[in-house]
Amino acid sequence: MTEKTIFKRIIDGDIEADVVHDDERCLAFRDVSPQAPVHVLVIPKKEIASLDRLTEDDESLVGHIHLVIRKLAEQLGLSDGYRVVVNCGRDGGQTVDHLHFHLLGGRALTWPPG
Ligand code: AMP
Repeated sequence: MTEKTIFKRIIDGDIEADVVHDDERCLAFRDVSPQAPVHVLVIPKKEIASLDRLTEDDESLVGHIHLVIRKLAEQLGLSDGYRVVVNCGRDGGQTVDHLHFHLLGGRALTWPPG
């Protein structure tokens, strides 16, 4: 059996997280190492290793996650804008093999990323 990812352990309640949203399909919690005043991770409860592993079956799940992100941005006061990031694979800088969407805001973010 493969070891659970840290995010699966959060979903299962094995370890604590600062949860800001929880529903049947996804969970959102504050990043433990925030890169902006607001840095939340939104993850599907379904185990999907990366963006690269999405299938047609996941279409509505991904749409749902984006609507949750929009609501969270409003709730967290990001009226001046925000950024949504998905790191995918080694070159994308992905470090946890469970699909996650970074919601970043609360300051002016620079572009391009490093
Ligand atoms: P990525 O580099 O895109 O794979 O992002 C993984 C993110 O997960 C990083 O921003 C980490 O700071 C964050 N992270 C890792 N472990 C935890 C944890 N236990 N609780 C909250 N965020 C975490």
